[in-house]
Amino acid sequence: KISIFWFRRDLRFIDNTGLYYALSERNPVLPIFIFDRNILDKLPKADARVEFIQRTLEQLNKPLKDKNSGIKTFYTTPIEAFKELSKTYTLEAVYTNRDYEPYALERDREIENFLKEQGVSFFTFKDHVIYEKEEIVSGSGSFYKVFTPYSKSWKEKYKANPPETKPSALYFDNWVPLKEEKVHSLEAMGFRHTDITIPSNTVDEEIIKHYSEKRDIPALDATSRLGIHLRFGTISIRQLAEKALNLNETFLNELIWRDFYAMILANNPRVIDQAFKPEYDRIPWRQDEEGFEKWCQGKTGYPIVDAGMRQLNQTGYMHNRVRMIVASFLTKHLLIDWRWGETYFAEKLLDFDLASNNGGWQWAAGTGTDAQPYFRVFNPQSQTEKFDPQLEYIKKWVPEYGTDAYPAPIVDHKLARQRAIDTYKQALAN
Ligand code: FAD
Repeated sequence: KISIFWFRRDLRFIDNTGLYYALSERNPVLPIFIFDRNILDKLPKADARVEFIQRTLEQLNKPLKDKNSGIKTFYTTPIEAFKELSKTYTLEAVYTNRDYEPYALERDREIENFLKEQGVSFFTFKDHVIYEKEEIVSGSGSFYKVFTPYSKSWKEKYKANPPETKPSALYFDNWVPLKEEKVHSLEAMGFRHTDITIPSNTVDEEIIKHYSEKRDIPALDATSRLGIHLRFGTISIRQLAEKALNLNETFLNELIWRDFYAMILANNPRVIDQAFKPEYDRIPWRQDEEGFEKWCQGKTGYPIVDAGMRQLNQTGYMHNRVRMIVASFLTKHLLIDWRWGETYFAEKLLDFDLASNNGGWQWAAGTGTDAQPYFRVFNPQSQTEKFDPQLEYIKKWVPEYGTDAYPAPIVDHKLARQRAIDTYKQALAN
């Protein structure tokens, strides 16, 4: 009899909760990864995130080879993968770390039911967040809708009893023997290589120490760039939070925002396509495809917005300050549905995470929990004066800025601002 450990968004050996518990039992463990066709079939064939996963699995496979084992990969749907596994092996249990996205929850229910019919246990563990949806609640026992009291409560709990980290899975030897196991190649799955660079998962302590002073300046390389690693679990959130607690409280707060949005999504799965505040779904968004296209391409004539969109298009990354500015511009200046922007970000961001992306967009559009009030419309000009006063960021991404080649603004700031406030106000008054 064997047990299976199913890797998903936890691609590491160090401090991997579910993997640690799988290996602590007596059965040998077979680690697997499923390149899920329900997800992959919808993606463009050059996707840096798929490439990153594939490369990471190859890295993880190496030390397992020394143990005469390996990660068994599948390119199919999860249910098909488990049907195959249950034919090949006598399974005792499947171990995995919990994922809180609506699709993942449905997938896991299907797999759990299938396994149950075969008499196989399905054990899941908390790994991706510090606290799950019911662990930090207000005095009345309901989930928090506002960040500040949530974070206060989060910190109290954390400081009183920080979660323990687990030793590396490589200390164990009870892996299922596998001969010459190869990870599916990109080509075998119809994907191509991209030339997008993935930032390293090494934590730069200097950046974290100076995070509070510099994090809002997009021209500086002053944020951690760990987003993609938190997304795919190539770094442990527990180890990072422990560092943050010692080095910089502002940085710790950002990690708490991540837990906060994961908690909001887990408690309110409807936010994936609805406003958190339902009355905001009454806003008559403009069906402005031309404006949207210009926003996507970074050709709005607002240099800070265009710089952000071009950084995103070229690198798969955009600085947080600029994400807020471009999202506000799309939803307020252009009055375009936040869901359009959210979808575009989901396609492009290396660190795309459903909960944080949805949270960020609903915050900017004013439709979310603890969101920016609707009448607060970022002024791109004053944001630039504050955060990119020397225009360094703008000039880097919009080299033609200041020449005739640069387009005129597609909307007038004053008019657009008033239109947004009036439209929101009227929709909410109905
Ligand atoms: P750092 O500033 O170094 O922060 C460290 C980590 O803390 C991040 O990697 C991230 O995991 C977390 N974090 C930081 N800020 C936030 C935040 N506001 N909300 C939630 N978690 C945060 N973040 C994503 O991880 N995925 C997304 O898809 C995403 N979409 C966004 C969309 C919009 C419209 C906005 C305004 C923000 C979005 N963010 C998203 C949050 C934030 O912009 C990124 O986490 C951050 O810019 C990533 O860069 P970094 O890794 O250098 O972060």
